Amino acid sequence: MADRFIGTSWKMNLTSTQAAEYCGRLLPLVEDVTDRRLFVLPPFTAIWAVRQKLAGTQIAWGAQHVHPEESGAHTGDVSAPMLADLGCSYVEVGHSERRRDYGETDALVTAQVAAIQRHGMTAMVCVGERERAEIGPVMEGIGRQLSALSGADRSRLIVAYEPVWAIGAGARAADPEWIGWVHQAIEAWFRSSRAGSEADVPIIYGGSVDGASAPAILAQPGVSGLFVGRSALDPEEFARIAHLNPVSAGR
Ligand code: PEP
Repeated sequence: MADRFIGTSWKMNLTSTQAAEYCGRLLPLVEDVTDRRLFVLPPFTAIWAVRQKLAGTQIAWGAQHVHPEESGAHTGDVSAPMLADLGCSYVEVGHSERRRDYGETDALVTAQVAAIQRHGMTAMVCVGERERAEIGPVMEGIGRQLSALSGADRSRLIVAYEPVWAIGAGARAADPEWIGWVHQAIEAWFRSSRAGSEADVPIIYGGSVDGASAPAILAQPGVSGLFVGRSALDPEEFARIAHLNPVSAGR
């Protein structure tokens, strides 16, 4: 079976003290989970505390953003070598909240992915449409976002499909069937953009996933895992999701 990924970004939540407590609660709950890759993406300020707790365990950690340059006069920013030095395995880029709040572009995503991969980490790139629409226009937009990855090393890349309308408080996860269509269309995009190319890129789904919605989403073709937001702020719920297996809707 291909690797399955179950991860979470805590966004701008949890102090370093709270992050350490979270890891302390999570670890015993998932110590039996060995057949999928678990990861947490804390805010920068908590990465060190998380590393202290998770080093030597099966849970990886990472970051939610990175500056594309190695070092220099970029007040408030953090570079890929700094994250690699903290033992980060994954770095998220292209999230719709950063595109919205900071005007981040696909060109920036290309440069960030290159920086992340230069330092041996895996880039986790978020793509997704802002509004509900038919699959054709949705895939046109996602195709433009994916074009930012045409030169990337596919062995250090994960795509997170995150329809913007399904993210955040008050939203609901997209329908499993829709998720399956989009994931298969993203797979097809990768196949056609570099025919006969090397590694398959895992495509995970994010947007209001919780313990109730996860099994049917995992059962969809093309879904390699889940990227969980607010429901994983409770370590027990994250542990529950980490244990779930795919169950087709209607079963
Ligand atoms: C996200 O924004 O990446 C996310 C998955 O958030 P939520 O689950 O809270 O919708």
